[in-house]
Amino acid sequence: MVVQRTLAIIKPDAVKRGLTGEILSRIHAAGFHIVAIRSQRLTQKDAEGFYAVHRDRPFFRDLVEFMTSGKLVVIALEADNAISKWRDTMGATDPAKAAPGTIRKDLGTSIQNNCTHGSDAPQTAAFEISYFFTASDLA
Ligand code: GDP
Repeated sequence: MVVQRTLAIIKPDAVKRGLTGEILSRIHAAGFHIVAIRSQRLTQKDAEGFYAVHRDRPFFRDLVEFMTSGKLVVIALEADNAISKWRDTMGATDPAKAAPGTIRKDLGTSIQNNCTHGSDAPQTAAFEISYFFTASDLA
């Protein structure tokens, strides 16, 4: 077991549908510690930079439009094996393919509008956490 941090986002679809509390409850129930949390709206530049690895994917423009469509909640989470633990709590990208009891299965409505984001590897987590939080936010 290794204590890790990961970046979670409650995406605009979930915030608009009033699901922030439900998702935070699941975060607590799963045993994560919230290190830092903020509600904010992304600019187009913010969203393009955050998802730069997906720049050449056919859904990139739709994804940027979706992620800038309303407020979202960014959260730095800490737990043993936080990266895989949070991805397991979220479920597969496509809610239709996600395991029963996961956030995306229970609450997601499409492969794009899947309620939450989670970092996929230690390097990505470090980049994504620093994209939103300063060292003093995380102290
Ligand atoms: P994740 O790591 O499970 O979030 O999945 P990816 O890194 O592959 O994709 C990033 C985000 O892009 C997903 O969470 C979805 O919101 C969105 N996305 C992924 N695949 C598609 C797709 O085929 N179409 C659309 N419109 N959005 C997608």
